[in-house]
Amino acid sequence: MIRAPVSIAQSWLSFEGHFAQRPFRRGAELIVPTDDAQGIYMQKVVSRPSKRGQGYKFGIFAGLHGDEEAGVLAVQELIRWANTHPQELADFELNLYPVCNPTGCDQKTRHSSAGLDLNREFWTGSTEPEVIYLESELRREQFHGIVQLHSDDTSHGVYGFVRGSLLSEELLKPALARSAEFLPFNYNAIIDGFEADNGIIRECYEGILSAPPEQRPRPLEIVFETPALAPLDQQVTATIEAVKTILAEYRTLQAYAADL
Ligand SMILES: [Zn+2]
Repeated sequence: MIRAPVSIAQSWLSFEGHFAQRPFRRGAELIVPTDDAQGIYMQKVVSRPSKRGQGYKFGIFAGLHGDEEAGVLAVQELIRWANTHPQELADFELNLYPVCNPTGCDQKTRHSSAGLDLNREFWTGSTEPEVIYLESELRREQFHGIVQLHSDDTSHGVYGFVRGSLLSEELLKPALARSAEFLPFNYNAIIDGFEADNGIIRECYEGILSAPPEQRPRPLEIVFETPALAPLDQQVTATIEAVKTILAEYRTLQAYAADL
């Protein structure tokens, strides 16, 4: 059967980008300009659940380091997936942020054009426009799950960081196993200077993109890393499959919890 193309009005996807602007100080007050003429455009695409307001709410963040392309491409594919197979995501509200560091991604640099590693700026009182926007999103949306996508050129294989809810580790484990069908697995005892256990690190750098400090209960938080020197298409596939595995496992665990 040939289906008619989905019109924008029927689509499950909504495009909710925002021009992030640098605040200025007036007296002791920090003021974000409301004029949208200038600023850094932050993309956001939302895939809505079939029953409004009833989906598991996840934020997927990529491109926080501008030289890590795999996550950015993977999120583009996830948007395509959400658009073509909405039934597979009917019980999720996916908030996709494909390019969290637009100036760095333009220049293919880890840091933003302001010369900062944005993934060390969160919840520190940063005045970087990208961070202010993403913090406001994290605070407003109160995600059940936060997934960050990265690539590491010092790692030969996939690995990840967990924080927040204890569930994070239960979900990262199968996601790493799935992604290891496409890329090597990093079994080292020390990765990126941290103690690791089967590719899982339980500490994190300060200032990484994470849930607002006051959010309770703590959502699950996962940082997924591909080896940046591996072929890009394998990194993209591994990242897509890792995210899909995290979502599927989350659904299973929620259904199991509901049965208890
Ligand atoms: Zn990174």
